[in-house]
Amino acid sequence: MHIEELKIDGYEKVVRCEDKATGLKAIIAVHNTNLGPAVGGTRLFPYASEEAALTDVLRLSRGMTYKSSLAGIDFGGGKSVIIADPKDKTPEMLKAFGRFVNTLGGIYICAEDVNTSPADMEIVYTETRHVAGLNKDGGDPSPFTALGVVESIKATATKLDIPMSKLSVAIQGVGHVGWYMTEMLRGMGTTVYITDLRTNLVDELVSKTGAIAVKPEDIMTLECDILAPCAMGATLNDQSIPALKCKAIVGCANNQLAEMRHAKMLQERGILYGPDYLVNAGGIINVFFERKPQGYVQADAEQACRDIAKTLTRIFDKAEAESMTTAEAADRLAEQRFLAHRVQMVG
Ligand code: NAD
Repeated sequence: MHIEELKIDGYEKVVRCEDKATGLKAIIAVHNTNLGPAVGGTRLFPYASEEAALTDVLRLSRGMTYKSSLAGIDFGGGKSVIIADPKDKTPEMLKAFGRFVNTLGGIYICAEDVNTSPADMEIVYTETRHVAGLNKDGGDPSPFTALGVVESIKATATKLDIPMSKLSVAIQGVGHVGWYMTEMLRGMGTTVYITDLRTNLVDELVSKTGAIAVKPEDIMTLECDILAPCAMGATLNDQSIPALKCKAIVGCANNQLAEMRHAKMLQERGILYGPDYLVNAGGIINVFFERKPQGYVQADAEQACRDIAKTLTRIFDKAEAESMTTAEAADRLAEQRFLAHRVQMVG
């Protein structure tokens, strides 16, 4: 196994590994560990080039620092990528990846991500204990993510001065997270419009909860109070934003803004945007509580997910008071916490 360190400005450690025996080619990026070990998923993807893989892992690891910081948990930010076609993934490759993770001595903790599963992480775990989100730890993070999103929707409804029983929410994608959200919101008497490419999910949820089905092509332009993107990223872009008919956007999908400037476009249209990486932090919050040395207390994890709403309200207020977008306000608050922590440790 050949490991080399890449010196990248602004990153604590970036290492590249190539293991001829198993075909493993991987990069781990540790962006920042001021608040704690860098935690972030392992993405397996057939990147067109190593440069593309490096760009992705740097962007994603930095994002994890901001996410954990703003969520109020003591994790740093890191991420890893394995450059491979999912069909070429083998147990030997995953074990070699585990040995690679182990060389960092715990400053990076990996977890499942795109094209890696909890079962894959069990294999990685045979070589290193620096793995989160294993089946034994509790499994599905989606109910916690959904709780954080629904609490964020409640805080947004308060800001819009609309009671939950009068609120309408349009959910794009009722997979793991969107499903739980629909159930919870319907329980509060909220009108919920839902769509999904998997029509069987929509049919089941309509009959179970009384949600209203909408065609996938109509959800982004539906007249509603809150639009909740819960399927894929980059849905807020030059094409979609001018056509939106909602008052706010609060959903769980990662990277909803195609580019940072789209936050400004939303602001100019008077649409309130709940920064995605805060709104969807429930899953990583739960991982943090699972790893508490004194043991897991579900009620504490749930309370921390509810507290996302308080942070969101602070972001709305800061953006308004300082004439910035909510996306910028989120970044500034996240930076305040992880940079202040470094000052404390150095001082
Ligand atoms: P999922 O795959 O279970 O659900 C996504 C659903 O969206 C699927 O049912 C899919 O059919 C549907 N979909 C895809 N494209 C669509 C389209 N164009 N129109 C309508 N429906 C469409 O995923 P999930 O776990 O519910 O996560 C949803 C999003 O939230 C993802 O972007 C994920 O990265 C992000 N996220 C999830 C979690 C979590 O705890 N699961 C945590 C943080 C972020």
